[in-house]
Amino acid sequence: MSDYQNILVAVDFSDAANTVISKALDMATGEPAKLTLIHVVEYLPPIDIAYEPVLTSSWTIDENELIDQAKNSLKKFSVKHKLENTEQIVVIGTPKHEITQYIKDHQCDLVILGSHGRHGLGLLLGSTANGVLHDMPCDVLAIKIKA
Ligand code: AMP
Repeated sequence: MSDYQNILVAVDFSDAANTVISKALDMATGEPAKLTLIHVVEYLPPIDIAYEPVLTSSWTIDENELIDQAKNSLKKFSVKHKLENTEQIVVIGTPKHEITQYIKDHQCDLVILGSHGRHGLGLLLGSTANGVLHDMPCDVLAIKIKA
């Protein structure tokens, strides 16, 4: 049982995400905490003016399509882990920034993420966990992901 009421879980769909969600479920048992899953689509639109002359419509990526695909993946992830009554959020941007912003806007009291994910195992903490720690108004639980 924990005192947390509003828990945000950062899901990147890497193998680490399975470990992260199972720890999150442990934290959310007991008192009925609200669990929200967030996935950030890391897509940078080609806005560099230096490349503008070579951009054609075939370069265009439909952001709505990216979001829809991510929403589907999050839905499948929830079904796989038997997550009922979870809110599922998909946004486009930088994980560190979007996760921090979501927490500030929605007054989460705990964020759970992996110590590492898709951005590699080189550092003590991965770039997202490290970035989130520096600007976080709530508790942060970084689940140790072994190499
Ligand atoms: P990384 O920065 O790739 O080492 O990832 C560390 C942790 O940050 C992952 O285990 C996830 O919990 C979270 N994370 C990384 N990228 C994303 C993303 N695009 N969307 C949601 N969470 C993410």
